[in-house]
Amino acid sequence: MPVTPLHIGIPGLISYHNPKGVDIAAAIIGSVIIDTDFFLFLLFGTPVHGYLHSFLFATLVAIVLAGILYLLDPSMIRLKEWFCWETENSIKSLLTGAFIGAYSHIILDMLLYKEMNLLFPLNGNPFYVPGAALPVFITVYAVGGVSTIAFLTLYAKKYAAEKESNVLQ
Ligand SMILES: [Zn+2]
Repeated sequence: MPVTPLHIGIPGLISYHNPKGVDIAAAIIGSVIIDTDFFLFLLFGTPVHGYLHSFLFATLVAIVLAGILYLLDPSMIRLKEWFCWETENSIKSLLTGAFIGAYSHIILDMLLYKEMNLLFPLNGNPFYVPGAALPVFITVYAVGGVSTIAFLTLYAKKYAAEKESNVLQ
């Protein structure tokens, strides 16, 4: 989706309901980092939905992201405490989060963009349906928009409740 932040909804909700099993930071960063393709486009002229919008590179991105977050362990724990988020910071929950984030991004995008080489090194996107563009576009935006609003609302309530209970302690 051109509106990258709408990609955080689905992985955010999955993580919200299973915070120990699905790392929130990995899920959210994984879901937006795929659009780094846009900066590669600006710098090198590669396609806007280029290499990172493929299962092969999304897999590599997820593994590298989980590894980096694992190495940043102490700072990630502090960051998550600050955001009032339960955390395991195990490599398993980091990998699960990063994969859910990265794959949910390309699964939503694959319905919208003909130019994606989803199964790189093979060319093309078998999931793009020519002629169904507008209804698919509206559906994908609705799913992204509603899930993002739901996630941010739930998170804001949880954050407020945690802060309040910290004040009362
Ligand atoms: Zn994208």
